[in-house]
Amino acid sequence: MCGIFAYLNYNVDRERRYILQVLFNGLRRLEYRGYDSAGIAIDASDFTSSPPLVFRQEGNIESLVKSVYQDVGEIELNLEESFRTHAGIAHTRWATHGEPAPRNSHPQTSGPDNEFMVVHNGVITNYEVLKATLIRHGFTFTSETDTEVIPKLAKFVYDNANEGDQVVTFSQVVLEVMRHLEGAYALIFKSLHYPNELIACKRGSPLLLGVKELAENKENGSAFEENKFLSKDGKPRELFLSSDANAVVEHTKKVLVIEDGEVVHLKDGGVSILKYENDMGELGASLSRASSVRRALSVLEMEVEQINKGHYEHYMQKEIHEQPESLTTTMRGRLIRRGSSKSKSVLLGGLKDHLKTIRRSRRIVFIGCGTSYNAALAARPILEELSGIPVTMEIASDLLDREGPIYREDTAVFVSQSGETADTLLALQYALDNGALCVGITNTVGSAIARNTHCGVHINAGAEIGVASTKAYTSQIVVMAMLALAIGGDTISNQARREAIVDGLHELPSEFLLPEHPN
Ligand code: GLU
Repeated sequence: MCGIFAYLNYNVDRERRYILQVLFNGLRRLEYRGYDSAGIAIDASDFTSSPPLVFRQEGNIESLVKSVYQDVGEIELNLEESFRTHAGIAHTRWATHGEPAPRNSHPQTSGPDNEFMVVHNGVITNYEVLKATLIRHGFTFTSETDTEVIPKLAKFVYDNANEGDQVVTFSQVVLEVMRHLEGAYALIFKSLHYPNELIACKRGSPLLLGVKELAENKENGSAFEENKFLSKDGKPRELFLSSDANAVVEHTKKVLVIEDGEVVHLKDGGVSILKYENDMGELGASLSRASSVRRALSVLEMEVEQINKGHYEHYMQKEIHEQPESLTTTMRGRLIRRGSSKSKSVLLGGLKDHLKTIRRSRRIVFIGCGTSYNAALAARPILEELSGIPVTMEIASDLLDREGPIYREDTAVFVSQSGETADTLLALQYALDNGALCVGITNTVGSAIARNTHCGVHINAGAEIGVASTKAYTSQIVVMAMLALAIGGDTISNQARREAIVDGLHELPSEFLLPEHPN
């Protein structure tokens, strides 16, 4: 699973050179996630008669950039040409189906005319069945990816509707496509038939929309009131879609985290959202019904500096050095030490209404993957000691494979830095279905785990870009120690121990012995 990015400028002139730069920079911001190939799609000069242009390359983003400028030179594409409105899409691929090669890179397309183009993060588990059906209907496949069925399915739906003289909107086509997809995905669609429009949808993989208004709204900045939410008011704006807030924050902090099943349609400067109703049917059956959704934008709690390396050589190095600060932020306002020893305690606002239920639970189950699992493992002794409740641990995928027992009397704690870890999310659904109280511990406000648990705690460690976790890991452990204090009863016998832990946590940031940075 890697990165997707899109840039749509509406009612504001942007040269092709600038559009390319925005797309390439978006990809560079996603580079840290690791990838093996990359690609983009932009418009040709005369959009109505020439199909959009797709550029794909294996290797790093710089090899894509080089090959794009080379191809642009060969086909004599004018980089100074200006577009009042334009929709471009981009992708970094981490191959799951098919070797890294230009033909397997994204955008994947519906055929030589690029009628439908798709960038995809994730895996389509039923692609073989869909591929066989589409081949029977005359489609020829040119890649080994699971993704290629998506644009071809879109063309199939579009052609079928047109044969029946039905006028279909772009979102209707995508809703129908979604009905047939199984697996995890975040998708962006671009189409020759729907110039200057984009569709984004997701199930399982993360995706967000960023909105930059170019004309100031004088009415106390209320351009984002729900009833006005990006109406087609003709005002110039730039819209961004990305699998990661990192690629959006340098343009805007106004974002909408897209939810599973939502189909987000960008058209004429407006954004409309439809919610997909899950009903599988025959391929080519009537177009899906969907209900429209109103959502408000939220503001990213992230600064551009957070995604820059500063004077450090690597993000991981920067993040190691940030730990005194990140731990302080994790504990800010939560650790209460008002001089007199009696008032030493913790306050976890996101949990306070559920503490009684947690204390009464029969067991606390920590569920996570990788580093998050290990953070819980490290914190287990203190949790058991202070809460007196049995604490067990589960690796999310293993719990799901075994369909391990989770009961109504359990408190299930889901730990994930991104709040979007696929296996942890599936395990969350499993625990919700089994009636457990579900608590989230995540670093990402607005993430799927933050939204779908009953209550929880944000670790507030700031953006962690290094793939090997450092500051998020230490902040997770500190949050769990505070959780232990919050759950544990404040009895006379354990008072001294609790106070020592509160004091220890308080001292922790200043006790970090970090090596001097060479600069
Ligand atoms: N499964 C798709 C492929 O292999 C997408 C992989 C990704 O998320 O980058 O092409």
